[in-house]
Amino acid sequence: MIDFTLPADLAAERDRVRQFVIDKVIPFEKDPRLTSHGPTDELRQELVELARAEKLLTVQAPVEFGGRGLTHVEQAVIYEAAGWSTLGPVAMNCAAPDEGNMYLLGKIANPEQIERHLIPAINGLQRTVFAMTEPDGAGSDPNQLATEAVFDGENFIINGRKWLITGANGAKSWIIMARVAPNPHVPEGPTLFLTDGDQPGIIIERTMNTMDRNYVGGHGVVRFENLTLPRAALLGETGQALRYAQLRLAPARLTHCMRWLGAAERAQSIAVDYAKTRTAFGKPIGEHEGVSFMLADNEIALHQCRLTIWHACWLMDQGEKARHESSIAKAFVSEELFKVTDRCVQVLGGIGISDETVVEMIFRDMRAFRLYDGPTEVHKYAIGRQILR
Ligand SMILES: Cc1cc2nc3c(=O)[nH]c(=O)nc-3n(C[C@H](O)[C@H](O)[C@H](O)COP(=O)(O)OP(=O)(O)OC[C@H]3O[C@@H](n4cnc5c(N)ncnc54)[C@H](O)[C@@H]3O)c2cc1C
Repeated sequence: MIDFTLPADLAAERDRVRQFVIDKVIPFEKDPRLTSHGPTDELRQELVELARAEKLLTVQAPVEFGGRGLTHVEQAVIYEAAGWSTLGPVAMNCAAPDEGNMYLLGKIANPEQIERHLIPAINGLQRTVFAMTEPDGAGSDPNQLATEAVFDGENFIINGRKWLITGANGAKSWIIMARVAPNPHVPEGPTLFLTDGDQPGIIIERTMNTMDRNYVGGHGVVRFENLTLPRAALLGETGQALRYAQLRLAPARLTHCMRWLGAAERAQSIAVDYAKTRTAFGKPIGEHEGVSFMLADNEIALHQCRLTIWHACWLMDQGEKARHESSIAKAFVSEELFKVTDRCVQVLGGIGISDETVVEMIFRDMRAFRLYDGPTEVHKYAIGRQILR
């Protein structure tokens, strides 16, 4: 049986989140601490405290770690509401990359790592990074991983270079992907390490200047220079990084879809308001078919995106990996929401490209969404291989 009814308590919580975002978070959208490299840590901390006061901090975390253990479908409903402001997920500690990192740590970290890295992250006290992408190695194809970890029987010595590492600046906990070189002690291959960020072997070369501006700390270029980590820094088993990355990516790419759906709805609401009040050629612009069709196309796309997300979430709640469906969702939703925000810019006329409204900021972030956690073409490549198998 297919039932789309939201339980009353979930619908009420969705409304409470939306109201929290409108009343408490949106006022910070003009804060100078929302920089071209994303919100500063100071701004993030202030927002986190607001969510904490409303008991809306990290609600997705498992119950045993202090959260509410939301199902994937419940997350879809709550994150969409949080996404009404791009700062909403930052406040509620369900923004990337921490949200996906916390999910992964909850699945594979050992008790010591949970205590040192996961619990403080859930409490909103420290941030995490996931360092995989490389200028000359891992990107769309993580098999090209070039960062190397040489094990001498006691320590792993890591060398390599990464970029596009979100939140690198100021993050406390680092999940690093490196290839363990052949050795007589442990299995070789792509491996995850978990360590503190303030190590002499972790060098942040610079923060990249990018189109988007909603990830705390922006995106860093990082060099690992003889980063020396003990065996205890292993996150899970050696040689298993790509399997763990998949564990993280399927739900993480869906949570991106949820949050950006909320942001696109906000853009649409601004465009609708404008279309009702702005006049041209003797009537409100919304009464011109050219405009009403753009808004109708948006409404259709938003609805389709929500259903696509919910379906993949529902499958995951049934215990399925839903890799195929989450790929379909990521490819479809990122492309559709980009078109939605583009049409919103168009409806707004000249102010659409200005910061008079948040639509311009949403538009730029939406462009980046088509690239991370798998560019659209890579998802289509995977979907194509699956159906031709
Ligand atoms: C805003 C943002 C934040 C990010 N944060 C992080 C982070 O925190 N940590 C991290 O490790 N990485 C991060 N990334 C990196 C992201 O995961 C990569 O950008 C992504 O995996 C693509 O890799 P690439 O950029 O190296 O593109 P490339 O691998 O160079 O690919 C370039 C283009 O080639 C095309 N292409 C590739 N493969 C195929 C194929 N099979 N079929 C058809 N076309 C193909 C696609 O159009 C793709 O866009 C972030 C990226 C962005 C934009």
